[in-house]
Amino acid sequence: MQRIFSGIQPTGIPQLGNYLGAIRNWVALQADHECIFCLVDMHALTVWQEPEALRQQTLRQTAVLLAAGIDPNAHILFNQSAVSAHARLGWIFNCVSRLGWLNRMTQFKDKAGKDRENHSAGLYVYPNLMAADILAYKATRVPVGDDQRQHLELANDIAQKFNHDYGVDFFPPIEPLVPPAAARIMSLRDGTKKMSKSDPSAQSRIEMTDDADTIALKIRRAKTDPEPLPSDPAGLQDRPEARNLVDIYAVLAGIPVAEVLARHGGEGFGPFKAALTDVLVQAIVPIADETRRLMDAPDHLRAVLRDGATRAAAIAEPIVCEAERLVGFLK
Ligand code: ATP
Ligand code: MG
Repeated sequence: MQRIFSGIQPTGIPQLGNYLGAIRNWVALQADHECIFCLVDMHALTVWQEPEALRQQTLRQTAVLLAAGIDPNAHILFNQSAVSAHARLGWIFNCVSRLGWLNRMTQFKDKAGKDRENHSAGLYVYPNLMAADILAYKATRVPVGDDQRQHLELANDIAQKFNHDYGVDFFPPIEPLVPPAAARIMSLRDGTKKMSKSDPSAQSRIEMTDDADTIALKIRRAKTDPEPLPSDPAGLQDRPEARNLVDIYAVLAGIPVAEVLARHGGEGFGPFKAALTDVLVQAIVPIADETRRLMDAPDHLRAVLRDGATRAAAIAEPIVCEAERLVGFLK
């Protein structure tokens, strides 16, 4: 069975895009892979986090993952900082990776913008730690969105350089596992911007903890245009908000966009939004309810993460110890 590693940052409240683009896919992968799911709190720290909020968000993210169907017994769920192998291999990779490679990372350029000098060194070397996250387990497959492909190429470059420099065949190549229907969910306020948990407006996203009334209100207020829905997909061109709502419906109902339009084409947004609210409520509210129930038992969540960390360390420890021996650390 192939070993998968995947991480999610415990920042903000998980939103519909995280669920449809990542979490739901993780749940499905559990059927035929050995999965290691990680709340990457060390990555979260690359930008400022209020300490108590980071702890709370780590617990809430854990609750959402469990509520969505991650099985922490058959697989592994833990927080990154609890397994020291990540930091240790991350340091070795800081010394293997080249400044020239990091300078090409577009995500750093996007996140740091013009104010480069004022960002943490951690944000800059983030891709090296991400390589360590994966290779500490010799995971060969990593489910990622398109935005993460460049980081995986860097991880492969690091693995190859390590193998070459130390004359070993130690780290395996990693293969990105981009989901078949890579759902990209857009903001409810602007159909050209992706839905994200860090958008200042909560109206721009459905959060995985929203109740039925909140979902209904956000969908009623979602930006649209005055035209009725077209009856075929070509009619969605240049109508990003309409396209996004139809996409969300299609993904949740598990039917092609053309089928959604065959059913709802010619309708105004009033009735369509009501139908969309129904499928959203069916998908999200059970997860939101279960998340709230789990949040009432933080000790249970902590125990799940602790147990996950113990089992994660049992896999990573021998691999990272061997890497440390290979580079010449006295063990
Ligand atoms: P932030 O705004 O803080 O970056 P985010 O909402 O983008 O938060 P991440 O933690 O960066 O969330 O991403 C977690 C996972 O969710 C990644 O696999 C990412 O590809 C996926 N994802 C995030 N937003 C969307 C979206 N709008 N549509 C589809 N997938 C998404
Ligand atoms: Mg993001």
